[in-house]
This record gives sequence, structure tokens and C-alpha cells, in this order.
Amino acid sequence: MIAEVIVDITSSEVDKVFDYIVPENLNIKVGTRVSVPFGKRYIEGFVVKLKESSKVSKERLKPISRALDDFQAINDEMLLLKDYMREKYHLRLADTLRLFIPAEMRTGRVKVKTKKQFRLNDDVNLEELFNSTRKSATAQREFLGLLKNGETYFLSDYEKYSAYIKKLSDMGILKIEDTEVYRAPKSLVVQPPKFKHTKEQERAIEAVKLDEKQTYLIFGVTGSGKTEVYMSLIERVLKEGKTAIMLVPEISLTPQIFSNFKSRFGDNVAILHSGLSSGERYDEWRRIHEGEARVVVGARSAIFAPVENLGIIIIDEEHDGSYSSETNPRYKTHDIALFRSKFNSCPLILGSATPSIESFYHAEKGEYKLLELPARVNNREMPKIQIVDMLNEIREGNTGIFSRALKYELEKCINEKRQAILFLNRRGFTSFFMCKECGYVAKCTDCDVTLVYHKAEDRLKCHYCGKRYKALTVCPNCKSSYIKQGAIGTQKVVEELEELFPNVKIYRMDNDTTQSKDAHQRILATFGNTKPSILVGTQMIAKGHDFPDVTLVGIIDADQSLYQSDYRSTERAFALLTQVSGRAGRSEAEGKVILQSYSPRHYVYKFASNYNYKAFYNKEINLREVTHFPPFSTILRVLVTSEKEEVAKDTVKDIYSKVCDVFSSHRSDFFYLDAMKSPISRIKNKTRFQILMRFTKSKEDDIIKEIYKICDEFKSSKASIFVEIDPQNLS
Ligand code: ADP
Ligand code: ZN
Ligand code: ZN
Repeated sequence: MIAEVIVDITSSEVDKVFDYIVPENLNIKVGTRVSVPFGKRYIEGFVVKLKESSKVSKERLKPISRALDDFQAINDEMLLLKDYMREKYHLRLADTLRLFIPAEMRTGRVKVKTKKQFRLNDDVNLEELFNSTRKSATAQREFLGLLKNGETYFLSDYEKYSAYIKKLSDMGILKIEDTEVYRAPKSLVVQPPKFKHTKEQERAIEAVKLDEKQTYLIFGVTGSGKTEVYMSLIERVLKEGKTAIMLVPEISLTPQIFSNFKSRFGDNVAILHSGLSSGERYDEWRRIHEGEARVVVGARSAIFAPVENLGIIIIDEEHDGSYSSETNPRYKTHDIALFRSKFNSCPLILGSATPSIESFYHAEKGEYKLLELPARVNNREMPKIQIVDMLNEIREGNTGIFSRALKYELEKCINEKRQAILFLNRRGFTSFFMCKECGYVAKCTDCDVTLVYHKAEDRLKCHYCGKRYKALTVCPNCKSSYIKQGAIGTQKVVEELEELFPNVKIYRMDNDTTQSKDAHQRILATFGNTKPSILVGTQMIAKGHDFPDVTLVGIIDADQSLYQSDYRSTERAFALLTQVSGRAGRSEAEGKVILQSYSPRHYVYKFASNYNYKAFYNKEINLREVTHFPPFSTILRVLVTSEKEEVAKDTVKDIYSKVCDVFSSHRSDFFYLDAMKSPISRIKNKTRFQILMRFTKSKEDDIIKEIYKICDEFKSSKASIFVEIDPQNLS
């Protein structure tokens, strides 16, 4: 028998299958991890196919040396998924397979944890044994009295009898064995609240057909009870003997979510996220693999969980950017979910208060079934959003961070002994130029996206077309030299608050203050218990948290999210504003949101402040259609990186000239093509160049194939080459 093996080396040169002989004495199946001789050493690999013969000559074939696990690490579904990902993303095989197993399993870093157990041998007559034991041997009799035929016991629970157990084992009466035990992450179990489903919830739950592949978009405002819908659907799926995967963005994998699911589904739940220890992650994966856990809750990579007989996939906050993997291996969670939904003939549920424009477009066209939850469960009002014109503040003499309206509301909130959250947007480090007098923002003359300032070169650049502009010192619109660049930090906000409110507790939550493992939780818990108090934070505080006494949310620099110079920035801004606003007024007390902006008339603010997603969507989708952006086109980036600038530059030049041939033969399908240095020109000491293109959706398959083919020709080049389709981020 011959096995096709993919070796676990991520190098383009060995990115293919190798044939090995399967020795008779080894139990090797498709999907088994094996150790194979490779060159002068032994490495790990995956068996992906078994066959009778090989085209390789007999002398050159080597045998597999051993199986690494006594189970099939990769099942048939995942083997097909590997082919799909190869075809769709052109990933290296080893990179893909690594996604399917916990990192801990490779190179044997974490082992199955075992515990010694004992049981009576089957033929032992317990009563006889007891009677034949001396009456004075009370401990021994006591021990025997605890035993039953057919039961197993942990040795560690019977330590005081260990000498006797050893003796019984030597006599062949007891059998001691190693059995696998799992290191389960701890989670607080609380009594789940009991309530009747709202009509809308009931309708959504009933609408989902469990035995067909179909994508549903649950469009429900924040607080409309989407989680309850997900859990009820999972309950139905479990009743049918099937399994479920539910994904949430890493940032919203809070203890609250875990305890909700644990309380509802008990040990049936496995949790996968980055905060687990290696042992825990490995064991959760094993519990899923063995079918002991049938509900998987996790971040993006949990989409690869080895569940069999999948009955539903749920992607909560489906618009979240973290569902796209932006580093090698690059993939889109939605694609993988669709594949698994098809393979298992099961529904895929996308849920959001602010669906991605693409998803809503699919729903509008009827490809996804739209399920709406238009109201909060308790009919509580959404908090009022007041937009403050910061230019007006300046004109009237207030040049500080806080508008007068925000100061007033902060004072009120503190006097009422309630809590406030102040939000700063610090995604990425992009900065843009804006005139503080007239609100002018520097934009690309070709693309209508905001220019990004590159400090090293002192230039403004367009991240879409690569065009460069001189940095500004005066406003071209009003000639003012009051030009603002960059953003305010959380530290600065805290300092100013401390000056304004010396007696109020102020907490800060950002990347700097949450380095240690539990910092996140600690800060939130202390804030939660302190009244009055103010929490200042970044994206981290935008999601999921439920503080009933927060009545005020201030968005200090709302424009930051708007000017990130790509076509998705308004969409992201809308989602973020909605999320952040959702933090206010979650109990009886009315909530209020103060949104500070230098461009208060931007349409995104108008729609966000009315919570009018559909109006926003309509505006946005029209814009995309007119400007030929996704979903009406496909954006493709070829990213070329190398430690040597010359290597990257030469490679990108060569690829570009070939891409130009594709362009010539598809001229009418292209909206755009150019090559340039990447906006972030060096990362981890590697120089980065890119080729950007935009073309019609209808020809996407053909063009992408041709681009992949070109990139393949450069496989043995010294530079690394990555192809990204509709990337979230073009930095
Ligand atoms: P979403 O995910 O849509 O923002 P959640 O699922 O977090 O909303 O629900 C908000 C709150 O409403 C939660 O505390 C939840 O327990 C509660 N809830 C959900 N459904 C109901 C219901 N039918 N009746 C009363 N409360 C509910
Ligand atoms: Zn441009
Ligand atoms: Zn100006």
C-alpha cells in the first residue's frame, strides 16, 4: 500500500504530495498524522490518500516510520476542505492542514493527559474476596466495601489505600490503567434566566430549516435577543443528534458568553479561544474530536473544529473584520462556513445589528434569507445620539478635547452617581490631515478616499491607487494653517478628566493597560462596582459588555474610524458607532450618546444617529455600484515581501509585467491596475510591495486563476508572494 503524504514544512518547494510505503504492521488511515523520513531527517506529515501503486520508482520510495496518533486527526470533510482552500486561495497544503489541528499537537509539544485508574478484573468475586479478608484488616475491608464490579476509579482518589491497591494489582485482582482525562477551561455556571420568546424570536427560530443548506441573515438591533435565538436553534440541532459551531469575534468572547453557553448546554460545550492554555486548547479539541463536546463556541479558527455531523453554523457579529484572516494562511471565515454548510446540508446563520454591506446585498437579492428582529426585547428605547460639531466648538473658543455638551453631560452623570464610557478609536496607526477651521480633509483626486500620512517620507498617500501628495502645511480650502494630524491617545483623555473631575474614579482600557492575562476582566469588574466612575477605552470596550448604570457614552474622535482610506471605512464607522452607542442605557435609566465630529454632516452620522441601517445601506450600496467597488467588483492584491528590498522590488516588477498581459486581454473587465510600495512599507524587517487591481465580478474566476498561475511561476523566487481577494485591509 502507498500513502500520499503532505509533509509539515511550509515551503513552496515541497508544497506537493509525496509517496511513501505503508508498512504492513502500521495502522494507517487517510487523515492519520505520521512521521516520515525526509532527506536526512524525520518530519511530521499527514496521510491524505491511500493507493495501490506509485509512479515513483521502487528504489526511491521510503516507508512511513510510524503513526503519531492512534486516531484520524483529519477527517474526510476536512480533507475536501483542504482541496477547496487550495483551489480558492492557493494556499500551501501544509499551511492549510495546520489550521485543522491545534498547534500544540504538532511536534508533540502537548501530550494527552492521562490519569491512572483501576478496576476489578472481570472474574473477581467481590463478596468472596471481602469474606476472605481478615476482620482486623479494617482499612482493607473498608476499601473493598467501596468497590463495585465494572466500575472504574481514579487512583488519586484512593491514595490512602495505595499500598493495598498495589498488592491487589500484583495479585491480578485489580487492573490499573492509564486513561485520558481532559483539562477543561473553567467557567462560571449560572442559572439561565427563564423568559418567553418574543414573537420575533419565535418567528426567527421557526423559520430556520435544519436539514438544508441555506444561509440566513439575522438582522436584529442590539439587545433584540439574537443570542437567545442562536441558543434555541442549537437546542433543536442537538435534539436531532447533530452538532453546532458558533463563532463570535475574539474580542467578544467574554466570560459572560461562556457561562451562558455552559449553563445552557453543560459539558456539551467546548470553548476555543486564544486565552486558553496549550493543554486546555488541546483537550477541548480532543473532546470535540471524540464527539464528547457537540457545541463549539469560539473565535474565527473554531470554524475548523473537527465536529462530525454538523447541524448548524452560526457567525455572530458577522460584519466583524476579524473573520478575515489577514496573515498567512489567508482565508475568509464565511467561505469556509459556506463550504461546511454545503457539505453537511445544514443552515448557516449570520447575525448582526449592522450586517456587512455584502451580506445585506445577498439578502436583498434573495440568496440569503433575511430574518429581522427590529426591536429590543423589552422595548427599551435606543439611546439618543447627539452629534456635536467640533469645528463650531473651536469657533466659539473651545479648543479642548471635550465639547461643552460632553462636559455638561459628564457632570450630570457624575452628580447622579452613574457611570460614563468615553470611547476613542485607535484602530491601526493611520493618520490623516484635516483643517480645524473648515473641516477640509485631504483626499485622493483619483479615488475619493482619504489620504494617509506617511511620516517617514513626509508624504500623503492614497492607499488605493498609491498616488503620492506633498504633506500639507496650509489648508488648500481656506488657507488656514490650523491643520490637525493624528489622533488623541487614551492617556491624554484620562489626564484631562482627572483635572476636570479630581474626585471621580477613572479607568483606562487599551492595549497598554491590558497586557497581563486577566487585566481585561479586572478593569471591567472594578469599573462595574464603582459609582460614579468613568471608563476610557478603545475598541475593546465597544462590544458585548453590559453595565446597567452606564447612562452616558462619549465618542471623542468619531472621525477616526471614517478616515481610514478604504472603501469599507464608512461601513466600519457605522457598525462601530452603533456598537458603542449600544453600551448606554441598558436598564431603566435613559441613555445618551455624545458624538464629537469635525465633519458632523457626513451621511454616516446622520444614519447612525437614527439607527437607520437600511437607509445607510441604500446610500452605501448605490455608491459602491457607481464607483465599481465590492460587491460589484473584486479587489485583488498581490503582496510581495522580502528582507531584501531589491528582491521584493524585482519580483513585483516581473509579476506586474505579466499581470499587464492579463490586463490587456481583459481590458474591458478591469477598473484599475497598478503596482506600488505597500502603505506600510516594512513589517518585521521585510520590505513590502503590492500590485492592486479591481475587476468585474463576472470575470472574477477567470482572472483570479490567471493571477494564481502567474504567481506560481514565481514559486521558487526568494520573495514571499501572497494573493488576497477583497482584503479587509490594504496597509
Ligand atoms: P443581542 O445579541 O441581539 O444584542 P442579547 O441576546 O444580548 O441581544 O439579549 C439582550 C438581553 O435580553 C439579554 O440579557 C437576554 O438575556 C435578554 N433576553 C433575550 N430574549 C429575551 C426574552 N424573550 N425576554 C426577556 N429577555 C430576553
Ligand atoms: Zn487614489
Ligand atoms: Zn480649511
